[in-house]
Amino acid sequence: MAHKKRILLKLTGEAFLGPDHKTLCPATIQSVIKQITELIPTHLFGLVVGGGNFFRGKNEGKTLGMTPSSAHQVGILATMLNGVILKDLLAQHNITATIFCAIECPPAGEPISQQGIMATVKKEQTMIFTGGTGNPFFTTDTNAVLRALQMEACEIWKGTKVDGVYDKDPHLYNDAKLFKNISYKDALNNSLQIMDPPAFALAEQYKQTIRIFNIFEDNALIKAAQNPEFGSRISCS
Ligand code: UDP
Repeated sequence: MAHKKRILLKLTGEAFLGPDHKTLCPATIQSVIKQITELIPTHLFGLVVGGGNFFRGKNEGKTLGMTPSSAHQVGILATMLNGVILKDLLAQHNITATIFCAIECPPAGEPISQQGIMATVKKEQTMIFTGGTGNPFFTTDTNAVLRALQMEACEIWKGTKVDGVYDKDPHLYNDAKLFKNISYKDALNNSLQIMDPPAFALAEQYKQTIRIFNIFEDNALIKAAQNPEFGSRISCS
């Protein structure tokens, strides 16, 4: 039997929100789960979930006047809330997922370990990586690269609000140019904050391919699986 293609899918917490990017809404996340169900016979998914629908240390923490390290702690906990939500929604589609927590929280999931990840990969079971890297001042983008390396994923798929990596914001400029293939350094310079610098640095160091596409587009994951040209590809080239 052919091995499944290992994919690290980074889901922003905003995938749990509606078009206003503020209110909880099932549409996007249910569509993502339906697509995962279709791809599971051929793909093994590690899901890194963000917490941006609840709390980002840099934003909400700042608004509340929190000290940065405590604010990031709240963001880390927010990713764990989303992990529990995601596991439940996946289970409703008969997908059993193991939650790994970067900070210990036995009721929510098991502590992350390399052995645990590889045992789950061997069972070809979906994984949900929560708690970010476990450290403040990082984001779940860096966590996505870290966990992709740990599960030996062939690609990271990062769903965003735009179709790929542009030279300027396509929501503001009609003539924004989409890069189909781009190096890590050029992506970092042109990414319009599509991923944060530590994530790019780690991906570049270990030559981890990243694909960026619009998660809000219909059947985005299916298109990513069927068409290597879908979205933008960030690699050594
Ligand atoms: N966070 C952190 N360390 C990590 C990952 C996340 O401190 O390793 C905090 C950080 O404050 C971040 C928040 O958790 O803003 C939520 O994660 P992220 O912003 O990546 O969520 P997303 O934008 O993907 O929904």
